[in-house]
Amino acid sequence: AQTADQSRPAEKRLTVLSGPSGVGKSTVVAHLRQVNPDVWLSVSVTTRKPRPGERDGVQYYFVTDEEFDRLVAENQLLEWAQFAGNRYGTPRGPVEERLARGVPVLLEIELQGARQVRDSMDDALHVFLAPPSWEELVRRLTGRGTESDEVVQRRLEVAKVELAAEKEFDTTLVNTSVQEVCDELLALMTAPKV
Ligand code: 5GP
Repeated sequence: AQTADQSRPAEKRLTVLSGPSGVGKSTVVAHLRQVNPDVWLSVSVTTRKPRPGERDGVQYYFVTDEEFDRLVAENQLLEWAQFAGNRYGTPRGPVEERLARGVPVLLEIELQGARQVRDSMDDALHVFLAPPSWEELVRRLTGRGTESDEVVQRRLEVAKVELAAEKEFDTTLVNTSVQEVCDELLALMTAPKV
């Protein structure tokens, strides 16, 4: 991090990690959280219910619809999106506070949110997480084995559209191994933006 570049001032070191659903974004972020490096992972607010093992303030801040409405109305979210029937958003204050202190910040968000950040924050680095192959993504999206064919089919249609978003990104990381992706991501977050 000491070799931080001049072209990308510390106060603007915001990195967005996005990619198709099922590609393993949250696994990458969970791993980063464990190895606890010199980057700050934004904690989103969401209206979805916690899954087993999820804790308020760690994976997400779990809020009601009314609370989410208020955050939107007060312009407290840097971006937000509706996804699979729930809303997700990035609290603006904590991100700006870290960036002002020169702490590299990582957002793990879906594609609509990434587009909003691209429109509102000039200097963010946008990283697309890609599956090793289409077959592998299909395997991950269908692997749960609990949904109907129709649900799975719809998910695959969505995944095709999502994969096409890669061209909107500054760079792509292929999710071959969590460890490798984390290393590459950390290197990108502290390297000059080209
Ligand atoms: P999950 O419910 O599986 O935790 O997350 C569903 C999707 O929401 C994932 O693609 C995740 O990247 C995305 N997501 C999580 N937090 C945010 C956020 O603050 N903003 C946006 N736009 N997407 C988010």
